[in-house]
Amino acid sequence: MRRRVILLGPPGSGKGTVAAQLKNECGFDHFSTGHWLRQEVARGSALGRQASLFLERGELVPDEVVLALVKDALSNAQADVGYLSDGFPRTLAQARAFDAWSSPRGLGIEQVIYFECSEALVLNRITGRRSCGSCGRVYHVTLVPPGQPGRCDDCAGELTQRTDDTESVVRKRFKIYLRETEPLIDFYRQQAKLDVVNASQSVDVMMSQTMSLLQR
Ligand SMILES: [Zn+2]
Repeated sequence: MRRRVILLGPPGSGKGTVAAQLKNECGFDHFSTGHWLRQEVARGSALGRQASLFLERGELVPDEVVLALVKDALSNAQADVGYLSDGFPRTLAQARAFDAWSSPRGLGIEQVIYFECSEALVLNRITGRRSCGSCGRVYHVTLVPPGQPGRCDDCAGELTQRTDDTESVVRKRFKIYLRETEPLIDFYRQQAKLDVVNASQSVDVMMSQTMSLLQR
């Protein structure tokens, strides 16, 4: 089974939900730059204050801030632990810089799974998304409901809607995704690392397809 994996796709494609389930069921070390950034924002660190200006506007956090965060976290992790990311890399610049840094350390990406999804579907889904304030696990009010409304199954933390999950911010994020992140599809296809999952399917189906792709 592959241990260093990137899930790629537009915000709201379900990749975050699949990532969280893979973490639970396969013991992946879920590497969520979004969650780390929100922690830094909550902590009010210099990095967090820098990042929050962009997050509030639904814009991408600059590459150098994200890369600093990722290098920090992976340098402290054990080399054989693997990782699963659903929000990084987001730009070609990040992808190239991460390849250059991670490959000589034996930490290079092994597989990329692309969750293919339309803007209409993303908008439909996004209003129902909720995440745990304590552990970062992602739910959906109808697609992936928690056992008890408003409470995380894992840690009983409070589930909240992110302030940047409004329709106008989502549309803006989708445009940014097309411009900044979509080029990564060809980048990883050329490296022969890309597999595709149809993200209009249910989370259960996407999950089982992802599992078999990881074991291929
Ligand atoms: Zn939780």
